[in-house]
Amino acid sequence: MQFSQLSANRFLNIPKVLKIIENEQQTAQLLLETLQVQNMQNICIVSGKGGSLKLASDITTHVKLGHQVLHHVIEDNSMAECIKLDIACAHHQIDLIVAIGGGKVIDVCKVAATTRNLSFAIIPTCLSSDCITSPVAVIKNKLGQNQSVAAALATFVFIDLKLIISAPKRLNLAGLGDLISNASALLDWEYAHKINQTPVDDFARLLSSASCDVLFKNPLFDITNLSDLKIVAEGLLISGLSMGFSGDSRPASGAEHLISHALDKLALGQGYHGEQVALATIYINEVRKLLDEPQIDDAIITLIKQCGLPTYPSQLLISQSDFLCAVTLANTMRPDRITILNHPGISPELLNQAFVNSFD
Ligand SMILES: [Zn+2]
Repeated sequence: MQFSQLSANRFLNIPKVLKIIENEQQTAQLLLETLQVQNMQNICIVSGKGGSLKLASDITTHVKLGHQVLHHVIEDNSMAECIKLDIACAHHQIDLIVAIGGGKVIDVCKVAATTRNLSFAIIPTCLSSDCITSPVAVIKNKLGQNQSVAAALATFVFIDLKLIISAPKRLNLAGLGDLISNASALLDWEYAHKINQTPVDDFARLLSSASCDVLFKNPLFDITNLSDLKIVAEGLLISGLSMGFSGDSRPASGAEHLISHALDKLALGQGYHGEQVALATIYINEVRKLLDEPQIDDAIITLIKQCGLPTYPSQLLISQSDFLCAVTLANTMRPDRITILNHPGISPELLNQAFVNSFD
């Protein structure tokens, strides 16, 4: 999506506090200290109904000393939930929203904080995407389809690695998949620049590249290892910020994201966003090979195949014909965005051959 026309005129508020810690006890204390320093009195702690509920209750108890605290539970990432949270914030004259949970909780809090022009803090319980510092929220529309909307960045981010490592491995791998796909997105950005002079913001490109390059130098990468998980956490934070600096999602979203958006639109399969974009990264690289265009490093494909991410569409309950249907629809997801899928050499036969080369 497009946030502004000119990144040369960009203005970005980056988080005031951005802490990665390795001690579960520290998170509540850091939040409390932040509230005191910022002189914030009325706090709304938001969680989902699953694993984040207990942590949010514990932090609510801790922060209640000296503050008015409301614990608000959301059902999903629908616009109805954003409105409910907005009403709760107005009613209780909230100074700060604290999002505790995964992508859905974070997205709803982003929208409510943006609407009400409030500061907000994020305590993620997993690393499923680069949404923590991205200026985008994914919200379900009335048809139940995910839509990206522009949103403010968090004011405070506290990432507790001990908490994150206890999340389902599949969720954290999805975050890794989202991060890895930056390498593919950057090639599409360069292709768009070559084809129609799409402006490339060099600083945003540098950030995006730095966010994932370190991954590819570690052949023994293991998401269940705390130091490797920390690299993913740092990478996802930088990746989100690269989009803010660019003024659009180009540094972290190319053809592989368009295919994922098409899969969402067609309601195909049961993959997480990061799983889908990693799968599409493998596929798009085969498309590039057949077109004799620059490709991502072999080490990137090796990492996707060895880290535990799904490497066949069937693992996400997506058939060959469904996957190719999403590929065909991908260009319509963002008609203004040039990617390798706009190459004049693209044909149904080539797209089919790329599938065979990728997944057979
Ligand atoms: Zn993404």
